Amino acid sequence: MAAEARRHLAYGITHAHDPYVPPSAHERMLALAGRTPLRLSWVTGPEDGIFDPPAGPGGAPEGPYGQAGREVKIFLDGADRCALRVPGTALPGMIGGTVRQALRRRAFGPIREGMGREMAFARGGITLPYLRFTDDELIRVLAGYAEAGFAVRVHALGNLAAEQAARALIQVRTPAVLDHLTGLDRRTADLIARSGARAAVQPGFVPRFGGQFAATGLDRYLAIAGARLLTESGTPPIFSSDHPCGPLDPLANLRVAVRRTLQPEQAIGRSEAVAAYTTRAAASIGAPGAGGIAPGEVADLAVCDGDPFDDATRVTGTWVAGRPH
Ligand SMILES: [Zn+2]
Repeated sequence: MAAEARRHLAYGITHAHDPYVPPSAHERMLALAGRTPLRLSWVTGPEDGIFDPPAGPGGAPEGPYGQAGREVKIFLDGADRCALRVPGTALPGMIGGTVRQALRRRAFGPIREGMGREMAFARGGITLPYLRFTDDELIRVLAGYAEAGFAVRVHALGNLAAEQAARALIQVRTPAVLDHLTGLDRRTADLIARSGARAAVQPGFVPRFGGQFAATGLDRYLAIAGARLLTESGTPPIFSSDHPCGPLDPLANLRVAVRRTLQPEQAIGRSEAVAAYTTRAAASIGAPGAGGIAPGEVADLAVCDGDPFDDATRVTGTWVAGRPH
């Protein structure tokens, strides 16, 4: 873990936020945080695995969880399944694409498993109904953590999961980040804005998983890591890697965010992308650095040998709290 922390620093990363650490690993994270200059924080969750419902705030370790407030992660869909809804016209593409992918036997990611197993047809279209909670259960879980002062991180890959999260958060107002949002539509993005939640997407998911959405034609109905859609709907996104699920290198991920080949209309501007990966990300977890490079702020800096958006540019130094590493 210490070597992994050094690798993060070499990429210009000053703060790593682990989205799920079971309570039994909390002490190890505390020990690591004392040994590495990398800022560390983490999110608690169920002890026995990510897909169990979290046990409630009583079972969570005392905070703080590194350099962030207490946060709990709740999985609505995932990891390799996507709860989503698309119009009925998407069906031929989904079947054809799934068969082609299965024949090639190479694809692995959020939609392959899901498509093979369960599909429902309703008036609203085709649904991959991989939700782990009913609305009532989710509202109860959210309310319990909200009362105990936790922020909530909701894993929502598909639009069906994102919609359920937003619906629940309109009932239970509490600080929340909806994470991944890899297949989103405008109506759901508008609902997210109404819920007051923050939104996180992984630009690196576009090269890693985008091909699967494109192969099944789902990219015609869903914005894949749609940073532009979220921004226009009033929820400018936070960026992260979700490493090892997505590629770690922040410079590469930033370049994808501003120059994407899949759905280029979902690209955002350079300064917007940098804010999403730095100050806005820090603000979303209550971490140092939310004020950016300004008097009185922490001196966390990634030094590059050229324009960060040029492919040849590398990180040559990483400063945390005013010290180079
Ligand atoms: Zn997640």
